[in-house]
Amino acid sequence: MTPDRTCVLAWLRRSAAALHEQRDYLTSLDAAIGDADHGINMDRGFTAVLDKLPTVAEADVGTILKTVGATLVSTVGGASGPLYGTAFLRAGTALAGRQELRPVDALAGFEAAYEGIVARGKAQRGEKTMLDAFGPALDALRAAIEAKQPFANALRAAADAAQAGALATTPMMATKGRASYLGQRSIGHQDPGATSLALFFQMMTDGK
Ligand code: ADP
Ligand code: MG
Repeated sequence: MTPDRTCVLAWLRRSAAALHEQRDYLTSLDAAIGDADHGINMDRGFTAVLDKLPTVAEADVGTILKTVGATLVSTVGGASGPLYGTAFLRAGTALAGRQELRPVDALAGFEAAYEGIVARGKAQRGEKTMLDAFGPALDALRAAIEAKQPFANALRAAADAAQAGALATTPMMATKGRASYLGQRSIGHQDPGATSLALFFQMMTDGK
């Protein structure tokens, strides 16, 4: 099945529900190496996104994603609001006017989102951030799509890689964001942003 805007809307709703459910967990991860607000930030942002979705129920995928991005930028403080906001805004621009997404379109959307986070946060992989989940997910997605695997399998591979990437942040030392203030003491804790990033990919494989 080719994903369309209905799938994208359903994914956003599942993500909002999962972020709400994982709010305390994400916040506890941030309590260890940040300021204990990541779950609160993400839940606040996606509660606002849920409120906005009815206004884009008939819109194209690009408009939906741009609306998500703008909502996150305006409602979420901290690092994650502008970073996730930029990711959704860039993906929305890459997918302007699309009603349906071929696998290559989805890949282009994710690539634009990733590059948006890099441009905004000036981080690279290995610095204990959301990029450490997103990068491996993107690699797995690209490889599966280039190998012409069914799209559902490609998304499964990306979600697994994102989850492994989030777990792999534990032994890293943070050199970007608030966690970097802890230096060596950031080692031994899983990064909250990488964890929420993996959750978005997980939600693409659920409920199908
Ligand atoms: P804040 O750090 O402002 O309190 P959040 O707690 O909501 O914001 O988000 C923290 C997460 O943001 C981190 O776990 C990390 O994954 C991500 N992050 C922070 N700085 C950067 C950056 N420069 N590039 C990419 N991701 C970052
Ligand atoms: Mg925080």
